[in-house]
Amino acid sequence: MRPDILNPLFAETDTLDGVGPKLKKPLERLGLTRIRDLAYHLPDRFVTRRMVADLDNAQVGEQVIIALTVAEHRSGSSGRAPFRVFAHDAKGNACALTYFGRSSYTAKKQLPVGEQRWIAGRLDQYGDMLQIVHPDHVAKESTGAMGRQVEPIYRLAEGLTQPRIGGMIEQALERAPELLEWIDPSVLDKQGWPQWRNALTLAHRSENGKARDRLAYDELFANALALMLVRASNRARKGQALHGNGHLRDKLKLPFPLTGAQQRSITEITGDMAQPSPMLRLLQGDVGAGKTVVALEAMLAAVEAGAQTALLAPTELLSRQHFETLRKMAAPTGVEIALLTGRDKGKARESILMGLLDGSINIVVGTHAIFQDTVAYKNLGLVVIDEQHRFGVSQRLLLTQKGKVTPHTLAMTATPIPRTLVLAQHGEMEVSQLDELPPGRQAIDTRVVPLERMDDIVAGLSRHVSGGGQAYWVCPMVRGSENENEDLAAAEARYAALKKHFDEDVVMVHGQLAPELKDAGMARFANGDAKVLVATTVIEVGVDVPNATLMVIEQAERFGLAQLHQLRGRVGRGSAKSVCVLLRVAELSETGKQRLALMRESQDGFRLAEEDLKLRGGGELLGTRQSGEEGFRIATLEQTQKFAEMAQDEAKLLVERDGGLEGKRGEAARMLLYLLERDWGVKTLRGG
Ligand code: ADP
Ligand code: MG
Repeated sequence: MRPDILNPLFAETDTLDGVGPKLKKPLERLGLTRIRDLAYHLPDRFVTRRMVADLDNAQVGEQVIIALTVAEHRSGSSGRAPFRVFAHDAKGNACALTYFGRSSYTAKKQLPVGEQRWIAGRLDQYGDMLQIVHPDHVAKESTGAMGRQVEPIYRLAEGLTQPRIGGMIEQALERAPELLEWIDPSVLDKQGWPQWRNALTLAHRSENGKARDRLAYDELFANALALMLVRASNRARKGQALHGNGHLRDKLKLPFPLTGAQQRSITEITGDMAQPSPMLRLLQGDVGAGKTVVALEAMLAAVEAGAQTALLAPTELLSRQHFETLRKMAAPTGVEIALLTGRDKGKARESILMGLLDGSINIVVGTHAIFQDTVAYKNLGLVVIDEQHRFGVSQRLLLTQKGKVTPHTLAMTATPIPRTLVLAQHGEMEVSQLDELPPGRQAIDTRVVPLERMDDIVAGLSRHVSGGGQAYWVCPMVRGSENENEDLAAAEARYAALKKHFDEDVVMVHGQLAPELKDAGMARFANGDAKVLVATTVIEVGVDVPNATLMVIEQAERFGLAQLHQLRGRVGRGSAKSVCVLLRVAELSETGKQRLALMRESQDGFRLAEEDLKLRGGGELLGTRQSGEEGFRIATLEQTQKFAEMAQDEAKLLVERDGGLEGKRGEAARMLLYLLERDWGVKTLRGG
């Protein structure tokens, strides 16, 4: 149970003064639902402003605070043109305030004609006119946030402004209690880090590296500690040693020899499974590295030893696909394989449940439906989790704690995490790596093409489809991005445009569709009815349509390299030559160019991940933040690299000294786990 002292931090955002249902929505869009989230919503950057008497005293490009008098409102002449407010300073110098999109309504209210307002923002030049685009502040008086010289700039969503969110964060910080220190005093001392509450406040006030580092370290430490507890409790659990004798595996007739990496991984996995303590192993391998067959070997080994196995996939579509593949591959062995998803109802479901209970089904494939309370197994010995980054650690944990005897767990991922980060993200598991692709794979011909050549691309797509091929067309949709609606609109517009060419042959799939519609669209494409699939990044994971050998990715510069690599992995799955077209905007930054050039040069997921890391420096964790589950919220990539090892060591030390987290530091650490919702780590303590 969460300690009471944290309750104020876990209250909902509408308990703050001035926050009602209307402001709650945009906050939610930023992933901010609790006071805690606001307190941890750290500034993207800071601006230093200068109060200027008039425009003659200001430089273009400078952040200023200035009094302007409003002269005129002018709506955009066409749909795309911005709304502009014409104003002038005390000397009569003109300056426009420019608003794009839907913000004009607020602007009109804030800037009545004939009145003077204080404006804070960046002075730009547009033609021979001075302008401020989307001022950060508009106020009647130059006091309060307006008067601050160093100001935090926060990530916003539509409906929020800097002063609004700044005010909420101030309130949130006031509610933060003093907490017991969980960092060892010697560490704190050596690093020169502030106490937690202080660090939180400082991080919002100015560019304070120490404060930020401390908060990042907290997150890494919490994560490491939680994983460590999971691992310790797993070790202490009762498992069952499974010694397969090979009689089923001998019957497999694989159309190819296994690669060395596959053989090695299988040996590692079956070795673990033969131990009495439950396995926790991660099989990491690039897209197309051949993880499925490794999983099949492991599952057959379990069945040989008289146990059942379950394969969990993140989506219905992937489950179905795995089911078909495994059924074909395992046919000579005669094992009984079933598919169970949330959509199976009535008799069909009943008979599968019976089969699992009486043991007549050896292998079940499905979505999380296979772990619902109503599903009971005769003897579940091995759980395989595909695309495990789609499931949080807590979810993974629940799955494996069903019976009295804990099954072995094999998790699989294609996310090419740089070696430096494997520990931070998967510290609770042993790792097997498929670092070798099956022979004979053709490199995917990757081309970087500017957007202006759209007509050529569409013509090429037409030829491809007439020749019997299928293709993916990917539009960006970054979950939680500010432009979510714009993204969707862009995908829809593209779909409409392609529909003119391809009519019934094109389908669209995106994350905001109902699951049935999404699956139906995917299915039409998978069975070849539809030739072109317009999609957002929902297709990133695991979809396998070998006949689709062309992929177009729009606004490729907006994706992380790792994500581009995952997307591209949807083509090039058969022996046919595949092409991936990366459509880019005309004006691309130097880094942008380098990144896309890397995609053209390399097909090695690990190399791309490492390079991505170098090029991006801090910032996001390889696009994993976009898929949410395992990215760190506070720690940047740089901080992760810098502090992950130390966090690991400290967590290990603590668990060795005080495995039940009962001492003073243990208690403080427990608090941290609840604070950052790594509470699944604490839960393993009970009875563990
Ligand atoms: P992933 O690791 O992305 O899940 P899959 O298991 O789907 O990869 O394998 C990709 C393709 O490679 C499949 O068509 C599979 O049959 C094939 N494959 C797997 N192992 C080998 C191998 N050793 N030699 C040749 N082809 C293989
Ligand atoms: Mg796979």
